[in-house]
Amino acid sequence: MDNALAVDVEELRSRMEGTVAAPGDRAYDEVRQAWNLAIDQRPALVAVPATVAEVVEVVNFARERGLRVAPQGTGHNASAIATLDGTVLVKTSALREVEIDAPGRRARVGAGVLWAEVTRPASEHGLAPLAGSSPDVGVVGYTLGGGLSWLGRRHGLAANSVLAIELVTADGRVVRTDRDHEPELFWALRGGGGSFGIVTAMEFVLYPAPEVYAGAMLWPWEQATEVLKAYVAWCRTAPDAISTSARLLQVPPLPEIPEPVRGRQFVAIDGAYLGSAEAAAEVLAPLRALEPEIDMFAPVPAAALSHIHMDPEHPVPAHGDGMILDDLTPAAIEALVRVAGPGSGSPLLMVELRQLGGAFATPPAEHGALAKMSGSFAFFAVGMAMDEAMGAAVTAHVDHVIETMDAWDAGRRYLNFTERPSDPGAFFPEGTLRRLQAVKRAYDPADVFRANHPVTAG
Ligand SMILES: Cc1cc2nc3c(=O)[nH]c(=O)nc-3n(C[C@H](O)[C@H](O)[C@H](O)COP(=O)(O)OP(=O)(O)OC[C@H]3O[C@@H](n4cnc5c(N)ncnc54)[C@H](O)[C@@H]3O)c2cc1C
Repeated sequence: MDNALAVDVEELRSRMEGTVAAPGDRAYDEVRQAWNLAIDQRPALVAVPATVAEVVEVVNFARERGLRVAPQGTGHNASAIATLDGTVLVKTSALREVEIDAPGRRARVGAGVLWAEVTRPASEHGLAPLAGSSPDVGVVGYTLGGGLSWLGRRHGLAANSVLAIELVTADGRVVRTDRDHEPELFWALRGGGGSFGIVTAMEFVLYPAPEVYAGAMLWPWEQATEVLKAYVAWCRTAPDAISTSARLLQVPPLPEIPEPVRGRQFVAIDGAYLGSAEAAAEVLAPLRALEPEIDMFAPVPAAALSHIHMDPEHPVPAHGDGMILDDLTPAAIEALVRVAGPGSGSPLLMVELRQLGGAFATPPAEHGALAKMSGSFAFFAVGMAMDEAMGAAVTAHVDHVIETMDAWDAGRRYLNFTERPSDPGAFFPEGTLRRLQAVKRAYDPADVFRANHPVTAG
């Protein structure tokens, strides 16, 4: 860092309660760390604003010095950021307020809030947000990217249940957007990602979930082809009240993992049914007829939905990537099992088929930039990267799996399941991308904000 900038950083620091760390500072290594431990982020500066006013300070500081700004909640998707050169990484982790308005069935959260901090208190009122499978994913990053939840085939994408968003724009203004205020910006933020400002707070719908039947069924992965073929056929007629995922799983032999699954390989189906246990049992009967070795589906409080997928609940090193798949033929299942199932030698922790359709496939009347999810499955492949060699093997195998499934590619990527730098044209139809670029030109013409999946002014 040059001397002039070092003096300015001192000045910024003196105006903030939150941390400001530059390379060489003692705090730098700690605060630059992403949730994905395999990613070595080295920004010009890291700022952790304690208030919205401090977010404004940081944005003005960066813009005036020709630095860029990368907002980050947790760093679950840090691997997609192409570079942080000349960039202030703004961690929103201190903006942590959560308000649950149970009678109004809505929640308001600060930008650093994790899903578990909403699902738990909402569940006490028999309510549920459209949260993802993992308790420690950030509400804001997830929702800006779309948001596939266990209630999604009933209620659609999380982005389309957002009621209002507050953000700091490139010119340092604090803006509140909703359907009546700055509606184009509101539209862009709901599924268009983090290119338009630093979101400081978000408000969204909580849905009634008094009765939820959820869990997982597991079979030894030698049954993968049979189970996945039956699953894909079952998905074609499953009601919207159920949202599920099917995976080929290689559970690591870690001591904290319960003994019946530790170190074993499975084909697993998990998910949630919104409704009574009796109705759920009827819907799940064709899968139960396949006689799972372990069946954990049961009536649960809505808060339990954050744990049924058994996602890691703390930072881990991983490499993964995804795509959207069309309906899968028997040949597609056979190809997937060949490349990621028994005998494949796959180093991956899992490959996943996340069930789409239902309300995911139908744009609601007032939708954002991501109107709907086309295709039948959101696909994701991931492995742990405990060291460089393992990381390289995982990356190569993720490529191999994705190439194998290319024949069933639905032709679009999903922001949240894309963990590599990508072309924005991969995510949006042409008309949507042009409209997003117009919003970018209006609100951030100098491209101050650097998103994981950037939309540029075009
Ligand atoms: C274990 C695991 C489970 C997952 N489960 C699901 C799931 O069930 N459904 C699903 O849809 N996705 C899921 N995902 C993907 C997840 O939604 C994305 O990784 C998402 O980007 C994470 O958001 P984050 O804020 O936690 O991550 P971050 O990496 O912090 O944020 C991602 C991007 O969002 C933008 N952003 C974040 N905060 C702000 C802000 N305040 N202002 C402006 N832009 C911001 C930035 O561009 C940032 O680069 C999962 C990921 C993992 C690793």
